[in-house]
Amino acid sequence: MRRQGYNGDKRNSRQYSWKAVVPMSLVNCKDCGKLQLKESWSREYCADCLQKRTKLSITIRGFLETHPKATILDVHRGTGIPLGKLLDYQREQREQAYT
Ligand SMILES: [Zn+2]
Repeated sequence: MRRQGYNGDKRNSRQYSWKAVVPMSLVNCKDCGKLQLKESWSREYCADCLQKRTKLSITIRGFLETHPKATILDVHRGTGIPLGKLLDYQREQREQAYT
């Protein structure tokens, strides 16, 4: 009688609940290449890079608020953000606008 539920049942139920949170797929972060779970909120970036990008976008938006007519070069000079990152950001904004 004591054998019942000692081993099997508990372990099984644990495995099932663990399986339930396993995501459908894994992807490499677009920025640093780190393997991460693909979830809607994270898009193609890991949490670290997502945070960096959020900061970047706040900086860019803040600059554009005070300099509405700024070109990408002005933003680069004004914020010190590398041009490559700015172009990435600009491209992504465009992609998001269409999706
Ligand atoms: Zn990353």
